[in-house]
Amino acid sequence: MILIVGGAGYIGSHLNKEITQRGYETVIFDNLSYGHEDFVKWGTFFKGDLGNIEDIRSVFQKYPIEAVMHFAAFTYVGESVEDPQKYYMNNVKNTLNLLQVMLEEDVKHFVFSSTCATYGNPIEIPITENHPQNPINPYGKGKLIVEQVLKDYNDAYGLKYVSLRYFNAAGADIDSEIGELHDPETHLIPLILDAAAGKRDDIKIFGTDYDTPDGTCIRDYIHVTDLADAHILALEYLKNGGKSDFFNLGNGNGFSVKEVIDEARRITGRKIKATEAPRRPGDPPILIGSSKKAMEILKWKPKYYDLSKIIETAWNWHRKLINSKFKNKFS
Ligand code: UDP
Repeated sequence: MILIVGGAGYIGSHLNKEITQRGYETVIFDNLSYGHEDFVKWGTFFKGDLGNIEDIRSVFQKYPIEAVMHFAAFTYVGESVEDPQKYYMNNVKNTLNLLQVMLEEDVKHFVFSSTCATYGNPIEIPITENHPQNPINPYGKGKLIVEQVLKDYNDAYGLKYVSLRYFNAAGADIDSEIGELHDPETHLIPLILDAAAGKRDDIKIFGTDYDTPDGTCIRDYIHVTDLADAHILALEYLKNGGKSDFFNLGNGNGFSVKEVIDEARRITGRKIKATEAPRRPGDPPILIGSSKKAMEILKWKPKYYDLSKIIETAWNWHRKLINSKFKNKFS
């Protein structure tokens, strides 16, 4: 069985759907601090906390775990600056707990959710895996620390890992069974869709004076189901004896904030009011990743690379959410 830690969250739940559809059995370990039990529609749910090592031991004793995929992390960059301890405790210390139990149980395959935030401010675009890693906030630093720990555990204990450095995860399950639901929501696309749905008055554009063609920040949006596919390929790569490695996961295409808003207007057919606002501290002007390495080695091929498809799936999910029992969480 595959242990999906954080499998009740946004990316973990999409992975759970894809991997169970391919015949794998899964156990979802989540403390539901940010995840949603309703997102655990496949596999077996085990409520547990990585902060409590006995919870981790229990899940390994109960189920025949052969590999671990680790999605559980706090992901608010701004909050990580204000409260770094919260991030280092959860994203670093609790990950060490998980790895400790894996070693105790002799489980040696690990797929880790890393981030382009480990690179810091880019010195060249597109960003390849060889770009220097100089993270500029505790969120990115914590993820980099875990990557470094993984290298040492590989060398000392033979733990085989794949670390996946995501760019901007976006979109939702093509059947709208699951999707993005953060509280608080800070991400661009769901906030634009809130504005489209009349749940907020406008979308604020954080900075219009960047050195980019239209003055707004450019990001590389990658569909969450394509991310999920990459995890399955990474797992199979490890099962087939692949060496520990790290890979970028992005689209290779950048879209500006204004382009995303325009595309959302087109897809939703709604008026979306955009208001110019000051820059958000810590935002690099352009983040675009090269995913050539994942394509060559893992044979990854993103299917939903069109921005229109990303926004369309997000919008379908968003409308369903508004009408669903999540309404209270949403408003
Ligand atoms: N952004 C924005 N208004 C918002 C939220 C985000 O202009 O209300 C911009 C943000 O400055 C960044 C891009 O949208 O350039 C993507 O931000 P998001 O928070 O979705 O992802 P991040 O790049 O921070 O991981």
